[in-house]
Amino acid sequence: MVQNSSAPRHLVVVGGGLAGLAAAERLASASPRCGKSRITLLEAGSRLGGVIATVRQDGWLIERSADSFLAARPEGMDLVHRLGLEDELVSVIPAVRRALVWSKPQRAAAGRLVPVPAGFRLLAPGKLVGVLASPLLSWSARLRVAAERFVPPRRLAPTGELDESLESFAVRRLGRAAFDQLVQPLVSGIWTADPARLSMAAACPEFLAMEREWGSLSRGERLRLRAAGGVAEARGARYGQFVSFRNGMQTLIDGLVRRLTISGVETVFKGVASIKLSPAGWLLELTDGSTIDASGIVLAVPPRAASQLLLPVAPALAADLGGIAMAGAAIVSLGFGREQVGHPLDAAGMVVPRVSSRRLIAASFSSSKFPGRAPSGSVLIRGFIGGALDPQIAAIPDQEVIDLVLEDLREMLGIRGQPALVQIDRWHEAMPQYHVGHCQRVTRIREAEKSLPSFGLAGSAYTGVGIPQVIGSGQQAAALAERIS
Ligand SMILES: Cc1cc2nc3c(=O)[nH]c(=O)nc-3n(C[C@H](O)[C@H](O)[C@H](O)COP(=O)(O)OP(=O)(O)OC[C@H]3O[C@@H](n4cnc5c(N)ncnc54)[C@H](O)[C@@H]3O)c2cc1C
Repeated sequence: MVQNSSAPRHLVVVGGGLAGLAAAERLASASPRCGKSRITLLEAGSRLGGVIATVRQDGWLIERSADSFLAARPEGMDLVHRLGLEDELVSVIPAVRRALVWSKPQRAAAGRLVPVPAGFRLLAPGKLVGVLASPLLSWSARLRVAAERFVPPRRLAPTGELDESLESFAVRRLGRAAFDQLVQPLVSGIWTADPARLSMAAACPEFLAMEREWGSLSRGERLRLRAAGGVAEARGARYGQFVSFRNGMQTLIDGLVRRLTISGVETVFKGVASIKLSPAGWLLELTDGSTIDASGIVLAVPPRAASQLLLPVAPALAADLGGIAMAGAAIVSLGFGREQVGHPLDAAGMVVPRVSSRRLIAASFSSSKFPGRAPSGSVLIRGFIGGALDPQIAAIPDQEVIDLVLEDLREMLGIRGQPALVQIDRWHEAMPQYHVGHCQRVTRIREAEKSLPSFGLAGSAYTGVGIPQVIGSGQQAAALAERIS
């Protein structure tokens, strides 16, 4: 199909989550062609932002999903600067830049929360003394982690294939006990994934590269730290590099929406029911039966929705998209008077190992992490439950889910009395699962994407679930949709 490059073009973005908003912003601002283009954003729901939303109520600031993002990647911060939102940024409060792990050895009468060993980042022990001094692991487990540097790197499979599951990688390098008590809960707190299926190559390529280049995670992490100035800042995650906004993540969505409105992007709150190729490029049928002609499109919808839309156009691509598994989760936000909580909440949050047989996956101490999240004298805690390893949560009524979270938090944080604030946010099929083989699937998807005229796919399902990567995916898809085929 040949499009006339001088004719006005109509570029359509389907899906008004972060990926779609970022794609529309790029179409409206970056391309010198955009002066000639009409841009339409189609959203099936009644608001923009997708899963990202902030609720403000009686002095509480509650994030319905994401509460922060990694500032070290450029895509997020570049957008923040372009939208003029840098003065709204807040960092994780320095005193709480660490994670705690719930630990209850079999013979112990009671459990307790223990800090992640100093210098330990997700899978990498950056500071040997940190691991050796940590009461989280038994002595044999600590010594096994210390011996990581002597574990030979895995040989390449005859196919050249390097991917393996996160569980297999972590057990091989750090030992079973460190995986069960430290790595598994840290990973679940981020990806809500099954580590036996989570792809190292897709989810943690940095650690795979450390093994390949330096032969060991401890050596690789030490060298990384030295290059970064020698500070073993990580205790779970690099909290010093995460930021949010004073008024919550909704600030980013509102900033994008403002920019799109000023740029003349038309937003239509209607879903897309089907798409097909047409002489003009694409023909979209909306859920109310109306149609739209488009010269280029960005599909920024979850992979299952993209699969259904693409089935008549590109069946093999649709099959690959439909094969991306998704997990759900619930977030229970609870507000208490400070005096009701026995624990000092002197961390960004806590994670709970699966081997401790609890339903709670993790909790974020929101009012410790960022300023202005709770009224004076109160604390806000967000409990996470569900994920790929506990899909049954989806079938449990709200009040029972709230009770399950409260029960675990009462024991772990010494909470007394009833919460002053309760909010439950449930997310069905909201988190893509990057299973082993995901990178090959994405390579096929990218090839098929390029073979369709003026077409881009965006969202968290492909090359990163974090906010910066999702913004980047929207921008890349916009560039593909703008191409004149
Ligand atoms: C609970 C949770 C917590 C998270 N926490 C963090 C965090 O702290 N930090 C971080 O960096 N990331 C976090 N993430 C990840 C990040 O928020 C997401 O990856 C990102 O927001 C996804 O954006 P998206 O646009 O790809 O998808 P979505 O937000 O799902 O948006 C897709 C949009 O498409 C629309 N749509 C679907 N079908 C159609 C159709 N047929 N026609 C028109 N519109 C349609 C939907 O209504 C929706 O608005 C979290 C995610 C979740 C779910």
